[in-house]
Amino acid sequence: MSLDDHAEELASDLGVDKQEVRQKLEKMAEYNVPMSEAKQSVRREYGGDSRDTGVPRKEIDEISTNDSNVSLTARVLSVGKRSIKYGGERHVIFEGELADQTGTVSYTAWEDFGLEAGETVRVGNAGLRDWEGEPELNLGESTDIERVEESLSVPYDVGGEAALAELEPGDRGVTVDVQVIECERKTIDGRDGETEILSGVLADETTRLPFTDWDPHPQIDEGTAVRVENGFVREFRDAPSVHISEFSTVTQPDRPVQVAESAPRYEVGEAVDAGGLFDVELVGNVVAVRDGSGLIERCPECGRVVQSGQCRAHGTVEAEDDLRVKAILDDGTGTVTVILDKERTAELYGGGLEAAREHARNAMDREVVADSIREELVGRVFRVRGSLSVDEYGANLDAARFEPAQEEPTEQAMQLLSEVAT
Ligand SMILES: [Zn+2]
Repeated sequence: MSLDDHAEELASDLGVDKQEVRQKLEKMAEYNVPMSEAKQSVRREYGGDSRDTGVPRKEIDEISTNDSNVSLTARVLSVGKRSIKYGGERHVIFEGELADQTGTVSYTAWEDFGLEAGETVRVGNAGLRDWEGEPELNLGESTDIERVEESLSVPYDVGGEAALAELEPGDRGVTVDVQVIECERKTIDGRDGETEILSGVLADETTRLPFTDWDPHPQIDEGTAVRVENGFVREFRDAPSVHISEFSTVTQPDRPVQVAESAPRYEVGEAVDAGGLFDVELVGNVVAVRDGSGLIERCPECGRVVQSGQCRAHGTVEAEDDLRVKAILDDGTGTVTVILDKERTAELYGGGLEAAREHARNAMDREVVADSIREELVGRVFRVRGSLSVDEYGANLDAARFEPAQEEPTEQAMQLLSEVAT
């Protein structure tokens, strides 16, 4: 929108002469007054008020995706800064949450209104869009932001500080105190060519979550505790993932960060209904070991499992041997396929690739490896920790830990015995 357009809109809004309004706006622009503030000032001068623009004033729980524009008074809960590519150009945008007594609403500010967490603002003429079924405010050129002296008291925490287990995809401007428990440097084909990023796993007292740092911060390294301010949350395989950007601040936390020893325990059915969980513990009976377990062959190009040296994507290939288990775990509430990688499979099988190949050669049948694993697992109860993802083909759990479940009485009995022995 040009200054002329702003002048025209404002003049017709106030019912005054456009040239006059234009001159006033121009003058303020010379002094670098932001357009939204300049318009507000002119509005006040003519005795107008943002309430007179025909935009309905609403409380947050009254706002719906059917509204096109609203005005409201709210407390700023969080402010996240992020750069996006839009129309071929990079834009810096601000995102977060606003709150009043009745609820919270997300916003995206396309201009820098200098919003700060904690302040109370009167928002005039915010646009609305539908973000996954929820209304989201768009604060743009035609939005007026006015600071309000007396602070609006709201039943929500200001500042975006959260525990990892509380994060949800879509959260912005979040602050977390975490331990970096895995961290890997990767080169990716980013929007500006090849870029280095960090990716790995963060943990706190409540859970673990994957993260990506798009602008590698030197403080982020395996084994360090960090405070990340101004992060945002996206969805990765149905679970939240923490994103750290050039606008995030990474410092040392002013408190020790404990790491949860175990993952939150779920029933299988409950976990599958949740749609995806990055870190979960399940206990159940292995009812079957699926085909494609044991000594398998993979395409060297894409890693897909191949049959008779034929890859679905690459035709005839020099297939490479690998070890894997796909076990069906059932606890009466549902089933998941637990996937064990080469190392965990070797542990269960009691030998690595060489042992498996020899076993298969002697028997002249590669299936003997899967059969022996089947004998070991089926009918027994296991405790599994890992990442669950759910898609149209079913629920898969990539196991980070897989061990026979110790029944409580046994543990107690063991302890009693050891006490007697000493
Ligand atoms: Zn392939």
